[in-house]
Amino acid sequence: MIKITNLHKSFGDNQVLKGISQHIARGEVVSVIGPSGSGKSTFLRCINLLEQPTEGDIVIDGQSITAKGACIDKLRQKVGMVFQNFNLFPHKTVMQNITLAPVKLGLMNQVEADRQAVELLAQVGLQDKANAYPASLSGGQKQRVAIARALAMQPELMLFDEPTSALDPEMVGDVLDVMKSLALAGMTMVIVTHEMGFARDVSDRVIFMDGGYVVEDSSPQALFSAPKEARTQAFLSKVL
Ligand code: ADP
Ligand code: MG
Repeated sequence: MIKITNLHKSFGDNQVLKGISQHIARGEVVSVIGPSGSGKSTFLRCINLLEQPTEGDIVIDGQSITAKGACIDKLRQKVGMVFQNFNLFPHKTVMQNITLAPVKLGLMNQVEADRQAVELLAQVGLQDKANAYPASLSGGQKQRVAIARALAMQPELMLFDEPTSALDPEMVGDVLDVMKSLALAGMTMVIVTHEMGFARDVSDRVIFMDGGYVVEDSSPQALFSAPKEARTQAFLSKVL
């Protein structure tokens, strides 16, 4: 479903991604782990063109998103993203947060969007929060609204950038449960995470990044139980 070839990204002289190639199959759940500053967020942000790659090609569903003249709006509809810090609209209710984009982009009318939002809120366990404002929600609730909002665009691929890193520990489980049920329902997902237990249990594949490279890429069992590369071993010995 996604074919990434020789992806490079520099910010000025700072080479952050130094040639990443990855194929991600439809329905695959891929966790990305690695030390801070290794380029994990930049990698995700290139996949939905929040950052413009310096070099390389990204093909989603057979269409290059990096070619000149590629339709970025179409791409953005296919790819949902959830950030560490939720990024909800503070002056809009939960319901409005979830229905805004699909209505504005003409995917559906307000009645349809409202109906879908009710279903999505049930899916993330927040049916009773439709009319709440973000400020009245806990971090875990905000993040579940953010997931529902991304799903409202009916994406084919979901990107998560450390979705539980800003949460109090007791909130983490609820968010991971929602992500796990999405994975089980067949969503294609790329997840940057520090939750090693989640990466091990839910992913089909784990990618270890360091210094702008994919250093190791294997099944969760292999990567966590028998990492091949010294850098992977050193990282895991610090976080496990
Ligand atoms: P990670 O998510 O693995 O912690 P990032 O992708 O956020 O790593 O960052 C990798 C490097 O890219 C860092 O050195 C960071 O300073 C740099 N970087 C990321 N985004 C930008 C940006 N918008 N402008 C300049 N430098 C950036
Ligand atoms: Mg990051």
